[in-house]
Amino acid sequence: MPLTIDQLNTAPLPDVAAALDGLYEHSPWIVERTLVQRPFLSLAHFKHALVQTVKAGGRVAQLDLIRAHPELAGKAMVAKTLTAESTNEQGKAGLTDCTPEEFARIQQLNADYNARFGFPFILAVRGPRGTGLNKAQIIEAFGRRVHHHPDFELAEALRNIHRIAEIRLNDKFGVEPTLGNDVWDWQEKLSVHSDPGFAEKGQLTVTYLTDAHRACAQRISHWMRDCGFDEVEIDAVGNVVGRYHGATPNAKYLLTGSHYDTVRNGGKYDGRLGIFVPMACVRELHRTGRRLPFGFEVVGFAEEEGQRYKATFLGSGALIGDFKPEWLDQKDADGITMREAMQHAGLCIDDIPKLRRDPARYLGFVEVHIEQGPVLNEMDLPLGVVTSINGSVRYLGEVIGMASHAGTTPMDRRRDAACAVAELALYLEQRAAKDGDSVATIGQLQVPSGSINVVPGRCSFSLDLRAPTDAQRDALAGDVLAELAAICERRGLRHTLEETMRAAAAPSAPALQQRWEAAVKAQGLPLFRMPSGAGHDAMKLHEVMPQAMLFVRGENSGISHNPLESTSSEDMQLCVQAFAHLLDSLAQDPL
Ligand SMILES: [Zn+2]
Repeated sequence: MPLTIDQLNTAPLPDVAAALDGLYEHSPWIVERTLVQRPFLSLAHFKHALVQTVKAGGRVAQLDLIRAHPELAGKAMVAKTLTAESTNEQGKAGLTDCTPEEFARIQQLNADYNARFGFPFILAVRGPRGTGLNKAQIIEAFGRRVHHHPDFELAEALRNIHRIAEIRLNDKFGVEPTLGNDVWDWQEKLSVHSDPGFAEKGQLTVTYLTDAHRACAQRISHWMRDCGFDEVEIDAVGNVVGRYHGATPNAKYLLTGSHYDTVRNGGKYDGRLGIFVPMACVRELHRTGRRLPFGFEVVGFAEEEGQRYKATFLGSGALIGDFKPEWLDQKDADGITMREAMQHAGLCIDDIPKLRRDPARYLGFVEVHIEQGPVLNEMDLPLGVVTSINGSVRYLGEVIGMASHAGTTPMDRRRDAACAVAELALYLEQRAAKDGDSVATIGQLQVPSGSINVVPGRCSFSLDLRAPTDAQRDALAGDVLAELAAICERRGLRHTLEETMRAAAAPSAPALQQRWEAAVKAQGLPLFRMPSGAGHDAMKLHEVMPQAMLFVRGENSGISHNPLESTSSEDMQLCVQAFAHLLDSLAQDPL
């Protein structure tokens, strides 16, 4: 008989502890100390409390916990002395059935890893979907993690232990994140479509209006119909638009969505999660024959990443009437204009102005997205509420000094342009950190035609500054520009600087943000608010209607725009539940 939340909360403590035996390898103290905090609102709440117990346990207890685990495909496996749970998990991953080469490689990694960190390599081999990683994925993760910083790897080992416990707990409670699994599977199926040149290498790249891109639009539109949307269309810029009607014909709509294009060699979840999560919600509404007092419009935006053409946010821009006709003449790397690409795709260019939405017809815009950063992962939180999409400003600059002989020019007579930019980079790092939530980056730094034996006479650089409010960004930019001037003055250099981009911050609408906050709390999870460092489609909609976003934690330090991008179907399930909660809340208590 599977356990229930009710039993977890009310059965005698020793009974519950016994039922949860084996959750954490040879470490019953974690469950025992956590159960003292009964009652728990949900399984997610209990899982979070277990994580907090391990955090509070301190480093020694954490190391003991890690060391209580067997090596992957190690001596314990060979000697058949693994716990029942571990035998099952390692067996499913095929580790009990390695070729001699694979076995040798794993033994070498085990030895290297142990020598570096002093504890065994722990990986949740059932993976983010719960169905299991294959041997190649396991060996790849092993080979990558052996190079981590020791502090980071300790945390990563603990995160994997918590993931193992999460899956074991689901087994004990007989629960499966079925909605999250479906969202996961849609993303997996969509990822088979990739542009030529990348598809062959197993990489995911879907840029505007390529064959793969149009195939994605078809797939999404078919799935939307399967989910029970009342209207589904691919609009004049290639957005896939699904509408689930409200209970009354003139009801306003809630707008949501995200993008289905990707960067080159990107991840499967960036953007797409924000299409499939609300799709899962519509499917549940349709399945139960339920209508909301408002309509629900889910848009898969065709273009957000600006990869094939320099037309970032083209898809969401079209909905606010911000489609720039001059984009049509832009050519891609093969000389194909956007106009030609649109005509080839059968899109009706003349209809683009009609895509503009009337904000009066909408309650607002909400978007869910993977965080694309390390914060939630580090805090062991599945969901985070976005307070604002950071405002940003970018510059391209050059410092000009004097190129001179690296051997004969004494240190106090140099006009070194690169040193000035290096000094600026270090200032930037400190100044942004002082704000707590500002970020500043010099992502490009070049010494044009520099030589190993020449003091840099010129140094070109980029500046990317972001903050949650425009005022904070402007104060940051003001200080950075003043410091640049001061550095150049002191070093006897001159400089040029050109502003190349400026985007206003998009603070979340308080009324919608509060709905996300309530939705997160309803899952039994602590509320965590954070700014979005990355730009999103919500930024465009922000120009015409209230908006608010919800973030989902990413694995692997929240890495994104990278094939390692990932999140678990468990976290996706929580995201679907939170979204459903937001819909219910808007139904019961309109804005
Ligand atoms: Zn995105």
